Amino acid sequence: LVSRDHHPERSTVRVGGVPIGPRTVTLIAGPCAVETPEQTLAAARMARAAGATLLRGGAYKPRTSPYAFQGLGETGLRILADVRAETGLPVVTEVVDAHDVDLVASYADMLQIGTRNAQNFALLQAVGAAGKPVMLKRGMNATIEEWLMAAEYIAQRGNLDIVLCERGIRTFETATRNTLDISAVPVAQRLSHLPVIVDPSHSGGRRDLVLPLTRAALAVGADGVIIDVHPHPEQALCDGPQALVDRDLEELARVMAQFPPML
Ligand code: PEP
Repeated sequence: LVSRDHHPERSTVRVGGVPIGPRTVTLIAGPCAVETPEQTLAAARMARAAGATLLRGGAYKPRTSPYAFQGLGETGLRILADVRAETGLPVVTEVVDAHDVDLVASYADMLQIGTRNAQNFALLQAVGAAGKPVMLKRGMNATIEEWLMAAEYIAQRGNLDIVLCERGIRTFETATRNTLDISAVPVAQRLSHLPVIVDPSHSGGRRDLVLPLTRAALAVGADGVIIDVHPHPEQALCDGPQALVDRDLEELARVMAQFPPML
């Protein structure tokens, strides 16, 4: 269903009216985690100032440590809905449990499947039946074939509004949090008709790498990028070191403008 063999034209997925696909380069930005209404609104304004047309933000955070901030849950979803009403930016947010899919879908414009759940087949089937577009991150240990098969689980439930997101894979390298597999972008675009975007924030895990990796992603033809921003990253409850700050936004907008869609 997601293969290009039977669907040679590359697809465009619409999220709250915003297109992601071959004739556009979409910027999704926002906080890694929803922490407070003020922080989320400030991050959404930063995102919009940089040219983002979609807002990201996690209300359910799948953390390595059970002692780390786990997200605000439904309170966070409500904050996202309020910020959408205030800024007009449709919301992309993660769902981590099949039991929460209907709840999250009732607030979100797009459901995100994170790297840790990329082969949680029950969850993939549940989001496939939820009637909302899905952003499917690549599992940190998944081959491209496994990633596309994960997308197939969603598609099989009747939902072809899927955007693939390369977010870095596990390698022996420790200088970066993950290794951005830049070749995955054209490879996945050749194998699948689905749009392919890149997450340069979770790939490198470092603010200083976000803009170089964004350039790399757009240079190889990614259909968009998803980027963490935070008004006060030193106080962030999740992934502060990778969040862009105010002074980075002009440069981000310049980078986006340098890479118009590849037609
Ligand atoms: C995220 O985007 O909030 C996130 C946790 O990303 P990943 O699943 O790629 O680690």
